[in-house]
Amino acid sequence: MAEMLRLKNLYIPTLKEDPADADIASHRLLLRSGMLRKTASGVYTFLPLGMRVLSKVENIVRQEMDATGAYEIMMPALQPSELWLESGRWDDYGPELMRLSDRHDRGFCLGPTHEELITALIRDELRSYKQLPLSLYQIQVKFRDEIRPRFGLLRSREFIMKDAYSFHDSQESLQKTYDDMSDAYGRICDRCALDWRAVEADSGQIGGKVTKEFMALAESGEAELVFCDCGYSANTEAGECLAHPTAHGEAELKKIETPGVHTIEDLAAFLDIPASSTVKALSGRDADDGLVVLFVPGTHEMNELKAQRAVPGFQLLTDEEMESFGLHKGSMGPVGLPDGARVIADTSLKGVPQWVVGANEEGFHYVGAAPGRDFMVDGWADLCVVQPGDACPECGCSLKGARGIEVSQVFQLGTKYSESMHATFLDKDGKEQPFIMGCYGVGITRMMAAIVEQHHDDAGIQWPLAVAPAHVCVIPLVVGDDEVQPKAEEIARACQRLGFEVAIDDRDERAGVKFADADLIGWPLQIIVGKRGLAEGKVEIKRRLTGERRDLQVDILPELLAFANRKMGNMNNGGVTIFSGMFDGEVQ
Ligand code: ATP
Ligand code: MG
Repeated sequence: MAEMLRLKNLYIPTLKEDPADADIASHRLLLRSGMLRKTASGVYTFLPLGMRVLSKVENIVRQEMDATGAYEIMMPALQPSELWLESGRWDDYGPELMRLSDRHDRGFCLGPTHEELITALIRDELRSYKQLPLSLYQIQVKFRDEIRPRFGLLRSREFIMKDAYSFHDSQESLQKTYDDMSDAYGRICDRCALDWRAVEADSGQIGGKVTKEFMALAESGEAELVFCDCGYSANTEAGECLAHPTAHGEAELKKIETPGVHTIEDLAAFLDIPASSTVKALSGRDADDGLVVLFVPGTHEMNELKAQRAVPGFQLLTDEEMESFGLHKGSMGPVGLPDGARVIADTSLKGVPQWVVGANEEGFHYVGAAPGRDFMVDGWADLCVVQPGDACPECGCSLKGARGIEVSQVFQLGTKYSESMHATFLDKDGKEQPFIMGCYGVGITRMMAAIVEQHHDDAGIQWPLAVAPAHVCVIPLVVGDDEVQPKAEEIARACQRLGFEVAIDDRDERAGVKFADADLIGWPLQIIVGKRGLAEGKVEIKRRLTGERRDLQVDILPELLAFANRKMGNMNNGGVTIFSGMFDGEVQ
């Protein structure tokens, strides 16, 4: 039987007031409930209750990883720079990599991720295709010197990640593990009671092309998503954009004086046309310092990643650089660009025969600018950030929008690391081949915060049973007497015998303080034992999720709890409904 949590001797420094710099619910509530303390910007200490929650999330992840056939290992956080020089990421990773040197001036970093280390581990000793596929994982601390650590555990500089890596001799084998890992990630989200979506994503620093992110839906999330009833969903950073620009039907090229017009809103208002009938220009340079001007519908933002893909090395011009090219910010257009300038336009503009654009002259715009007649387009590409209202690339319906917290991501790496780091095995024919790899990361600490983002109210956290620091908190309203406290202890032990994890608030505090803390900490079920109730043989139970209360005879409590306990077998939704039947009279 698990130990009972005795709040008197547990270090739970709860706070009545919101900490000043805690910006979102999870940050505020994890600090206030005495689960977490800030040590430095983006660096946190987990106190006993927070540690219990963290371990529970970790164990859910561990069980689901083990079920895929992956084996747990533990690599060091301290990684030699040589490995990162080999993969090329010592330079590519930039200032987010925490670098340091030892007393002999040898370079190291604190690992933000472990592709280099695991590739080096495998390459010398795994030689034969017969040992493949192989999946290894660890649950370990990671370091990233984030430019803006914020939102508590959501974006910290030291955090806990589960990272798994798989090695294969064929794409089919990688695909199978990738699918198994994706399924496991879905189950992890379900078991943590998250409302989630898997979305198309970009692979960022990690590399590879096929990748998916798992998003916990939350207004506080930094990621923007689009999704469709047909099942399609994407991170707006990555999703294909099918915008609907409209034509402003003016057959002739006509220059119009537009004094003081600098933005798309100004232009649309000045001409009294919708923004979708305007075209926005963005000037930049390519890898060879050539001038490139990108055109996108006035309603849309350029996507930097897509711009990079269409024009390798693309960098927006500064205001001074624009002037040196004779370009005018706010009135740029494709007609009359400097010689040699390349014009790349968003694919959606292909269907627009006349454009409303800048005239490359301060205070003037063109209407009726026709591609092919008045100017040439050198290339078409998907350039925009997709937004709600755009067409779904799979079914054409209008996309909806949401915000999310990226809790995990799966990647097919292919041979990116095995090639750069020369990690090979011998295939069936005795030929040397680079490993085909996948990697799979869950932000354990971020996940804990995401759960709070989705499960809280004004009074505090509402932990799903599966990750709660304990399932039940027994609250004796007086301690040290010979009636209430002994009865509370007896009830607590009975709960334990039934298989629940139990806390008892044995602190000598006022009832109001105990109630407020119990709601703040978020135990799923409270059992309140008071003198007045006991006189009638009664206690009160309260369900944190709904606030439902019920006075009941002490002697039917075991039966009610046994009823709840029988439902514990099904925890696919994180156990959020376990205690429901105790209040609705299902059991009298
Ligand atoms: P983000 O885009 O949010 O910076 P990422 O895509 O760089 O994250 P990955 O490299 O995919 O992150 O890492 C795997 C997981 O680690 C992420 O899905 C996320 O849950 C977690 N994670 C990444 N960075 C942080 C951080 N700064 N703080 C907490 N968790 C993080
Ligand atoms: Mg990611």
